[in-house]
Amino acid sequence: MTNETLINLASEMASGTIRVVDLTVPLNEDTPIIGLPPEFAQSSAFKLEQISQFDDKGPAWYWNIISCGEHTGTHFDAPGHWITGKDYSDGCTDTIPPQKLVAPANVIDVSKESAEDPDFLLTSAKLLEWESEHGKIEPGTWILMRTDWSKRSVEDFLNYAEDGPHTPGPSVECMEFLTQERDVIGFGVETVGTDAGQAFAFEPAFPAHTLMHGNNKFGLASLTNLDQLPPKGAIIVTAPLKIVNGSGSPLRVIALTS
Ligand code: MN
Repeated sequence: MTNETLINLASEMASGTIRVVDLTVPLNEDTPIIGLPPEFAQSSAFKLEQISQFDDKGPAWYWNIISCGEHTGTHFDAPGHWITGKDYSDGCTDTIPPQKLVAPANVIDVSKESAEDPDFLLTSAKLLEWESEHGKIEPGTWILMRTDWSKRSVEDFLNYAEDGPHTPGPSVECMEFLTQERDVIGFGVETVGTDAGQAFAFEPAFPAHTLMHGNNKFGLASLTNLDQLPPKGAIIVTAPLKIVNGSGSPLRVIALTS
């Protein structure tokens, strides 16, 4: 066995031939979080409380206590997040095998469609069209849905109306196609959650959650900088905090790309 591949990787990273792209949004008290209908319990926004900062409480050190819901900012959805995925023995943040936390990414650019229609739904037809140009979606790879939603103001990002949020996402048959026909590792988005804003009314409701997690697959929400990735060829590192029995966690998503 040779480590030539890793030596080449290190050299290409050092020379800048391979770039490192941060797909993570900043995490502070203003980071938008999902709001559920009032009959359900709500999550909490990110909070940072200072313990000390070079003062009487700690003369030479600065540190904080952080708190937030598991699904805050750029975050990972584990299979155990959803009722369809609750029984997988390797489906929570501490039990997912680390080998599954580094994988190639396919970036599907539907930014134009999403700008024209906030309720735009990704379909298998669109994915087949993408495949005809870029090749087949391989098993164990991510689908990242580029909508440029991360470039919006907070209000337009959440895009609430009287009948609920209006944000793009995947159709039911798109999730069936990706889980059954392509065996992807997960589905990532720039919006606040992996499902479309109106997906509560789909059959089944919330197909990204219901079908991805039901098949022991992952989700990534509130990604950014997807416009800096090629359609195919990037590798992303998506390691959530090792919360025991966690349903997900904020994380830093890092892409290696040429
Ligand atoms: Mn989530």
